Amino acid sequence: MTITLPDLPYGKDALAPHISSKTLDFHYGKHHSAYVANLNKLIEGTALSSDTIEDIIRKTVNDAGKVGIFNNAAQVWNHTFYWQSMKPNGGGLPTGKIAEKIDADFKGYDKFIEQLKNAGLTQFGSGWAWLVLKNNKLEIMKTSNADTPIAHGIKPLLTVDVWEHAYYLDYQNGRGNYIDAFINNLVNWEFVNSNFV
Ligand code: MN
Repeated sequence: MTITLPDLPYGKDALAPHISSKTLDFHYGKHHSAYVANLNKLIEGTALSSDTIEDIIRKTVNDAGKVGIFNNAAQVWNHTFYWQSMKPNGGGLPTGKIAEKIDADFKGYDKFIEQLKNAGLTQFGSGWAWLVLKNNKLEIMKTSNADTPIAHGIKPLLTVDVWEHAYYLDYQNGRGNYIDAFINNLVNWEFVNSNFV
């Protein structure tokens, strides 16, 4: 199958002023789109060309000869998950079942936010910060470059992209300000709850 670029779940200006339409023009329209195009070129005519994106990621994660395929496939998947992790007028206190689980596993929302922000800030260079479910317990995780929890059998619930291309146009080197805006104004708790089943 051909891997396709999924639609953004909202308009390009819907996350402003926290994430501008200009950032989404580049981040979705150029970066995410290029990962899809590169992946299709790399898998064309190979045994991977009939696989789902998840299967491509799992089959290439530890294969030194398929690093390019893994990187592009994981970036396609991570970005699709990241767009869904946000919504206009989101953020703030969690709702639903995940709220109780955060209280139980992190000893409160403030501790959860502190750990998520710290993971995003301390990811050296490009990567991602995640809320994941591991052995039925919530954890914060960070991954480098394209790496993704699903390549390691870990269930992601929420992600924030901390590659510079995610925030540089809006926040320049202020990665912490971008993460604050994500936490306070953008997190889609309904999406997090839908992953927490
Ligand atoms: Mn990105």
